[in-house]
Amino acid sequence: MRISDYFFVDAKKILSPNFSDREKNVDLIVLHSISLPEGEYDNDNVEDLFMNKLNFDLHSSFQDLRNVKVSAHLYIKRDGTIIQFVPFNKCAWHAGESIFKGRKNCNEFSIGIEIQGKVDEEYTREQYENLKKIVDALKKFFQLNDVVAHSEISPERKKDPGPLFDWSKLDEN
Ligand SMILES: [Zn+2]
Repeated sequence: MRISDYFFVDAKKILSPNFSDREKNVDLIVLHSISLPEGEYDNDNVEDLFMNKLNFDLHSSFQDLRNVKVSAHLYIKRDGTIIQFVPFNKCAWHAGESIFKGRKNCNEFSIGIEIQGKVDEEYTREQYENLKKIVDALKKFFQLNDVVAHSEISPERKKDPGPLFDWSKLDEN
């Protein structure tokens, strides 16, 4: 998985306006899960959310998202499709209030990866395969070791990617 100009060459690019300048080194990867509506996958609603283009009238659960501005560097859909919204040298807005090893605001020093899914459903083989390639490439590129769940850095608010996420899949050779 090759990186050029802070983008994965093989990712589909959709540039989100939701990012900020980075002033700290990247030394953390944060894994998330998301689907809109929850558990429904055959749509582009997450892409639309990250582009501030979501039609909030599509579903009652979207009402809470009206004033939310969020993004992630990467999003892996159920079929393994990889979309990059923010270059790695900018901060994406994925973690919110968060703390890792005593350091707050994890967006400032992390890469955020959203996996299409929900906390009580298995992720797909295609997602694990591409996630592993992504994580391996980012570890090498940034010389980083730490990969955490959103639930670890925002334990009071978040449960993703959840207990069904198989961390051992990231260690396989
Ligand atoms: Zn999350």
